[in-house]
Amino acid sequence: MKYLIIGNSIAGVSAARIIRRHDKNCSITIITKEAYPFYSKCLLPYYLRNEVGFDETILADEHFYKENYISLIKRRHVTKVFTDKNKVALDNNEEITYNKLLIATGASPIQIGSGPNIFSLRSFEDVEKIKAAALIPLTPPLVKGGWGDYKKAVVIGAGPMGMKVAYGLKGLGCEVTVLEAGKQVFTRILSKRAAFILSKHLINKGIEIMTNCRFLSYDENNQPPFNSPLTKGGDRGVKVGKGGFSDKKFVTFEEGNITKDIEADFVVMAIGVKPNADFLKDSGVKTNAGVIVDSYMRTNIDNIYAAGDAAEAFDPVAKKYTINATWPSAVLEGETAGYNMAGIETQIKGNVSSNSIQFFGLSFVSAGLLESDSLPIEEEIIDEDIPKNLFKRLVFLDNRLVGLEFLGDVQGAGIYLDILKGQKDTSPFRSRLSDMDFGYGKILKFAGTEDRFFI
Ligand SMILES: Cc1cc2nc3c(=O)[nH]c(=O)nc-3n(C[C@H](O)[C@H](O)[C@H](O)COP(=O)(O)OP(=O)(O)OC[C@H]3O[C@@H](n4cnc5c(N)ncnc54)[C@H](O)[C@@H]3O)c2cc1C
Repeated sequence: MKYLIIGNSIAGVSAARIIRRHDKNCSITIITKEAYPFYSKCLLPYYLRNEVGFDETILADEHFYKENYISLIKRRHVTKVFTDKNKVALDNNEEITYNKLLIATGASPIQIGSGPNIFSLRSFEDVEKIKAAALIPLTPPLVKGGWGDYKKAVVIGAGPMGMKVAYGLKGLGCEVTVLEAGKQVFTRILSKRAAFILSKHLINKGIEIMTNCRFLSYDENNQPPFNSPLTKGGDRGVKVGKGGFSDKKFVTFEEGNITKDIEADFVVMAIGVKPNADFLKDSGVKTNAGVIVDSYMRTNIDNIYAAGDAAEAFDPVAKKYTINATWPSAVLEGETAGYNMAGIETQIKGNVSSNSIQFFGLSFVSAGLLESDSLPIEEEIIDEDIPKNLFKRLVFLDNRLVGLEFLGDVQGAGIYLDILKGQKDTSPFRSRLSDMDFGYGKILKFAGTEDRFFI
């Protein structure tokens, strides 16, 4: 059997591990357009901050591929899939055949505009480019504390990625402003109250956050003068330097209906990602936002599977097909694809969107549905102490736990996450759920099962 995996990251490697475990004699080939072995994308912001070194981000070196008899083809891009001939074409016109194919190509950042000082963060190369942009000194002499002391970065988007980039850049010594079009930070993964606590913490750590500010453009070269007719309302915004034409660069954004500018030596875009599925055009593999898969991670083509950020799978909490672009989800989907590709029929379970992040010593775990205007959700606050940055909240819908957020103290969050993944009726023990001493043993007792709760 010839297995071919496109993408050498967590979804692809998780699948390869499972396939090798269950099929000792098959051939496994992984293709990646990157130059590196498998590394942790989650650690890139810490690598940007110089908090971890290159080696610490590597999760599987060449021994892993040797020991598992996996051939890794680096620096090659799959450009086309011929589903009728069971083969793919590479950017060097080479063709590779397969019996079973996994699409684990991840996603790419969405970018508005382009230019030498507009970046996004997805790979090692991106980190190196951002570091270079952040660290090259401005025109000497640099006066400590004066303009030009540090590079000024503007990050577009206050979701997890934008905030991680901001955290990384702050660690490098940059002055950082985050522009967010919405009303709060972490819109999809924290409630308004939790987002307020986290914003306060980040602002205290020196990150400027501007909500309700919609990015329009970053004009690196052609700066209209202060109060020029090119700017609506004659408002050149919050930081205009000395005005007039200069070598300073400005981000233009809209706050309400007022157009403003803010100075930026460079910009990092973090407004979302788009699955890497363009190469499947005309292949017959069905895509929507991502590659559509069933609960076995099968696409509409018999011998083709998809997993990770490239795949659009069913979320049992949201009750819709969606892309859960997180590391744990990519592990689960990659492993499930691996089992099914190796002939062990396995349905995915507990594939819900969850996040676990720490910024400047403040941790949070969140998952599922946190706000809804249209669904009759009920919330239960377990703990709230805003001055101490503490907040714990559970969200229920029809007695199922559908959302949770733990901020400040994340102990015990894993237990609640398991309950959420199970999507079972919690009414027999609902009143006990706000008791933080409610441990796993008690959950098993109340759930009346010795299995893991969500199985
Ligand atoms: C900076 C950063 C921080 C993150 N932090 C967190 C976090 O804290 N927690 C969390 O849960 N998630 C985090 N994520 C998200 C997480 O990393 C992704 O969900 C996960 O990497 C998805 O894995 P994947 O294998 O599906 O795709 P990817 O990791 O994107 O890998 C896809 C691979 O496929 C290759 N590829 C793409 N197209 C082709 C092609 N046509 N031919 C050949 N190769 C191709 C790519 O080069 C890449 O190596 C972070 C992501 C980033 C970028």
